Amino acid sequence: MRQLQYHSANSLIWVDVPAPEIQDNRDAIVKPLMVSRCELDRSIAGGMLGWPGGFAFGHEIYAEVVDAGDGVARYKPGDRVVVPFQISCGACGRCRAGFTGLCETVPYRSSYGMAPLSGVDYGGGLSDRVRVPFADHMLVAAPDNMEPAAIAGVADNVTSAYAMVAEPLAMFPNARVLIVGGNTVALNAARFALGLGADKVVLVDEDAESLKIAAQFGAEAVHASIEPQMQSVGQFPVTIDATGTEDGLAFAVYSTDHEGFCQTAYGGFSEKTPVPLRHMYGTNITLKIARVHARAHMPEVLALLHKGCVHGEPLVSRQVPFSEAADAMLEPAHGMVFFPD
Ligand SMILES: [Zn+2]
Ligand SMILES: [Zn+2]
Repeated sequence: MRQLQYHSANSLIWVDVPAPEIQDNRDAIVKPLMVSRCELDRSIAGGMLGWPGGFAFGHEIYAEVVDAGDGVARYKPGDRVVVPFQISCGACGRCRAGFTGLCETVPYRSSYGMAPLSGVDYGGGLSDRVRVPFADHMLVAAPDNMEPAAIAGVADNVTSAYAMVAEPLAMFPNARVLIVGGNTVALNAARFALGLGADKVVLVDEDAESLKIAAQFGAEAVHASIEPQMQSVGQFPVTIDATGTEDGLAFAVYSTDHEGFCQTAYGGFSEKTPVPLRHMYGTNITLKIARVHARAHMPEVLALLHKGCVHGEPLVSRQVPFSEAADAMLEPAHGMVFFPD
């Protein structure tokens, strides 16, 4: 079968590889029908992570089940599913506690499309077939009246955006929310924040296209350069740094109100990132940085999308056939998805 692999910086290549087979009776084999591009995908494809080549690419998968082992009870061939990007067993202590991004049964950071993270290549979404271990737990049934392009990203980036705003908005109901940055995760966070009842969402970025989309979602879009010093956008009980930069983090922290909550999206920092701790101490700000537990949150995200409880149209700007994916992966665009041709 064909499989898109990361080869080297700015170079993805299609490779002919053996199709995956059922190895354990809890496995299913799925055929990807729509794959969403993650913020991380562009960084990986661009070589920014410095990973060695030769691993399967793509990790946000909407698929059809084509085969299932004897031990799979909930799914059968023909079922449409969303596949969480993180591999988890559903049975260990952490999985049962909802920490499916930290499953104890599989190697740390086991994921599709990012083999160097765990050392295990589980395959990738841009291929004809993918094996899903622990299928009864892993797979999430796709609502049948929703566009695949609108929900493939629930496997990771859409759910990450949801989780970033859902937790602080549970602590600060109807709060005003500041989002720093204009990438796909930031824009989806704005949709969810408004859908979850935020009184107001302000999104700050320099990119005109991002600001236009944010405004369409109902956010107040502010054009400003993201600099570390105190900013003039005001103070917010809830702030989200979606930039993954030191300046973005500082901007968000300094814009967080007394006793407020600042969430930052990425661990793209150095080991010793400067954090304005003295300011945080004096103003009692809580800062959280965490990877999403995708599988645990996916059902509630799909339910919100299904019920229309999220502002604006799904963020899908371009649908690209697999045959053009290697080049398109490197292009700037929000909400890019890929389908087999
Ligand atoms: Zn992702
Ligand atoms: Zn587990």
